[in-house]
Amino acid sequence: MSPYILPALPYAYAALEPFIDTETMTIHHSKHHQGYVDNLNKALIDTGAEHLDLLTLLQRSSTFSATLRNNAGGHYNHSLFWAILSPDAQHLPTGDLAIAIKETFGSVDQLKEDIQKAGLAQFGSGWAWLYLKKDGSLAVGATANQDNPLMDNAPIQGFPILAVDVWEHAYYLKYQNKRADYLQAFWSVLNWSAVEALYAEAKQVKLGE
Ligand code: MN
Repeated sequence: MSPYILPALPYAYAALEPFIDTETMTIHHSKHHQGYVDNLNKALIDTGAEHLDLLTLLQRSSTFSATLRNNAGGHYNHSLFWAILSPDAQHLPTGDLAIAIKETFGSVDQLKEDIQKAGLAQFGSGWAWLYLKKDGSLAVGATANQDNPLMDNAPIQGFPILAVDVWEHAYYLKYQNKRADYLQAFWSVLNWSAVEALYAEAKQVKLGE
């Protein structure tokens, strides 16, 4: 049984040019993300956890093997990443999220700077995040490998609403060693309306309540 499948991208591989190039998108989705899905399905065999949904797998990650944790994270993180990118991106947050960002970070520009710093400071492979903490406040952080704030054994805890992949496979073909340039380009294809929807969902989940 293979419970998980690769989600189709909601846009073409070339749609995010020139900010994220076609070849990177193709390999990243059809090879890397597919690999996480395949390895997650393999890692689930005979665990007794085959029936659990992905969110539950992540929330109980400390009880599973490193292989299952890495691939469940890989599947969740990439699904989130594709969903917040768009060739027709809404370039600024609005509504409740805009208010929360201003209250927490002072401005959208300051938030962007904080996320870029978190992404640059992540040594080796990992992700930078904007997430809702259990107390309902917003925070920026980073995790290694395919960890994310939903995992019970991650160094930061909460519900992710914005994810930036800082693995070299996410940018190396176009940006080589220039992670900062990729992090800057990311904002041109980040769709804030998708982040707003995740913020509303995160508040509904009411983590910790
Ligand atoms: Mn990736």
